[in-house]
Amino acid sequence: MKAIDKHIFEIDTEAFGHKRLVASYLVRGAEHIALIDPGFPSSASVVKDKLKSFGIEPSEISYILLTHFHIDHSGATGALLKEAPNARVIVHKRSAFYVKNFAKIVGGARMVFRTELIKRFGEAYPVGTERVFPVTDGEIIDLGGGVKLRVIHAPGHSPDNVCYLEESSGTLFPGDLACLQYPDLNNIYIPAASPPLFEINDEIESLRSLEKIRAERIMVPHYGYAEASTIEFVEKSINAIQQTKRTIQEMFREGLEFQHMIERLRGKIVKESGKLEDDLPDFLSRIYLREMLKTGLMGFLAFMLEYAPYPRGFTFNEQWQDIIKGAELYVSTL
Ligand SMILES: [Zn+2]
Repeated sequence: MKAIDKHIFEIDTEAFGHKRLVASYLVRGAEHIALIDPGFPSSASVVKDKLKSFGIEPSEISYILLTHFHIDHSGATGALLKEAPNARVIVHKRSAFYVKNFAKIVGGARMVFRTELIKRFGEAYPVGTERVFPVTDGEIIDLGGGVKLRVIHAPGHSPDNVCYLEESSGTLFPGDLACLQYPDLNNIYIPAASPPLFEINDEIESLRSLEKIRAERIMVPHYGYAEASTIEFVEKSINAIQQTKRTIQEMFREGLEFQHMIERLRGKIVKESGKLEDDLPDFLSRIYLREMLKTGLMGFLAFMLEYAPYPRGFTFNEQWQDIIKGAELYVSTL
């Protein structure tokens, strides 16, 4: 665990056994301990071990705060609750139903991740209905000793995404409203779109609303320290989203197939990061980045499809049909 501030610690959940992909955060007040986004189901034991080596028993956790319901954030919740009998799960009211019916979250994730990774999700234990406490914008979770987390509803990536602002230190946890910013790719901003609920207009509006917040630091799930200034964070995020949307539209006009679009996006990102292929961690470069770009592209396409069903140069190919089918199946599981 890495100290970010007196009360705040970063925990690498070591997603699929790899570092610097999915972060969880621990916030410690005088009376309560909160854990933000414990990660994939398979990360539960990693998180528990790290807490213990830091002298914290899972039973001391009062709150598991979810920024949103996606499995890479919520997956380990059920396993942790087994050892944290007093912990409450805090989630925006929009997705409390899914957290209470965890199989729906697992089912949805199975639709968008490739088989190789699904096999490595690990077992997701259910979350008891009585453990889930829905919140809305503006609510405060008081951890004691002046350490407080304010809930900021920030839809876009998903309709339920919330940011948590720790007010005494000015630390903002934006969830996946933040772009993906992997340290191994020099923290360049890669939009975290996800099918089928990604809503670009909401995303930009939520980002703009953060500009008025004076944060000292922004800590993102994927991964770690992002920026000190919300203004810079918002500008870079919006630029990345708009640029990616333009790139996708251009690729449409060219009539590129889905897999080629992913490779094109991937090439641009590696180039922008200034890293050489050989310098990138193998799993990130070969599998995870492609996986994230696939879900990202599906998210953008799902959004664009709704608003412009037949863009110029649109070619119905098999991959595209699969995406639509996947998106429809995903929706039907919610
Ligand atoms: Zn997400």
